[in-house]
Amino acid sequence: MAQLFAYIAHKEGVLDDSAPELAVAASKLDTASQVTAILTGTGPDLETACQEAAKFYSTVWKFDNADLGYPNAEQIRKLLAGVVPADGIILMAHDTFGMDLGPGLSIKLNSTYTADVMGVDGVDGNVATLVRQEYAGMAHAHVTCDLSDGAVLTFRPGSFQADEDGAGSGVVEDKSGEVGDLTAKRRFLEVVEAETGDVDITKADVLVSVGRGIEDEENIEIAQELADAMGAVVSCSRPIVDAKWLEKPRQVGTSGQTVKPKVYLAMGISGSFQHLGGIKGSPFIVAVNKNPKAPIFQVADVGIVEDILDFMPELTEKIQEG
Ligand code: FAD
Repeated sequence: MAQLFAYIAHKEGVLDDSAPELAVAASKLDTASQVTAILTGTGPDLETACQEAAKFYSTVWKFDNADLGYPNAEQIRKLLAGVVPADGIILMAHDTFGMDLGPGLSIKLNSTYTADVMGVDGVDGNVATLVRQEYAGMAHAHVTCDLSDGAVLTFRPGSFQADEDGAGSGVVEDKSGEVGDLTAKRRFLEVVEAETGDVDITKADVLVSVGRGIEDEENIEIAQELADAMGAVVSCSRPIVDAKWLEKPRQVGTSGQTVKPKVYLAMGISGSFQHLGGIKGSPFIVAVNKNPKAPIFQVADVGIVEDILDFMPELTEKIQEG
């Protein structure tokens, strides 16, 4: 199989959670392959991130350039198309940045593109069978993907369990001299921090998160009572914000907040990838849902098939009884 690469995102010297996950995904595609991590950015933060990445990857390519200080998919697409061999297989996270970067990169490289991969079901020569979800997670599709002419594959965050403390000692190679032309039509202007409102769900250790299963604005109170009993904070899925039942800073997901709690109670949440994309750090997930086939059960540590409007008050009562 051709050479495998993983594009690794990082912020302020801290690797994205996808770094160890993509290393696991790559090993499922080719157990023998030495995977090269690619990191772009500038300055000491980039160097720190590269050293961290070397714990998971045998080789790390560092591209340091002042113009790469803020990740701009248009520039990084140009860079990757210039440095990765035409038959290279590039893995990246299926997050908003990966969704921006990946499709155009596969067109530039004239290679296969498969998005939102959740599993690798087998590899036969250069043909991999990849697992994706269809119909909002209600069905799994097994897709054969010919990797012989190169490929860009985006992997759903959280799909591959990885050891968060890498123990390897890979080599960081400074490839900054090969950055090439970075002129782009898209320009970075400024970072606008999201409002945190009166509560900051990103700092909470325990979240009681409600979805459309809460059914009515008045029932939010039931979740708040449970959260109060547990010393937790109430968060929610996007439809709850769209309905104006809770304010935007409480929304978990790709277009909301990224949270990293220790325990996440998903109450009447189906488990869309946009929602799960906002949950990082592999928390202990307890999902309660009326539908036994709800996709959230695939990522939950504990799954309970129950009506949340019965379950939550009962749990609150039990906790209050001590
Ligand atoms: P549903 O998918 O409707 O699920 C409700 C669940 O509740 C179902 O599984 C049902 O079985 C269960 N249920 C119903 N009644 C009960 C009951 N009484 N007891 C127990 N279970 C019950 N979504 C986000 O959450 N965050 C985002 O940041 C986000 N960003 C998005 C960005 C884009 C560009 C797009 C297109 C979508 C985005 N979405 C986001 C929306 C996302 O696709 C889903 O529509 C959304 O996550 C679904 O929310 P939900 O699980 O609450 O609702």
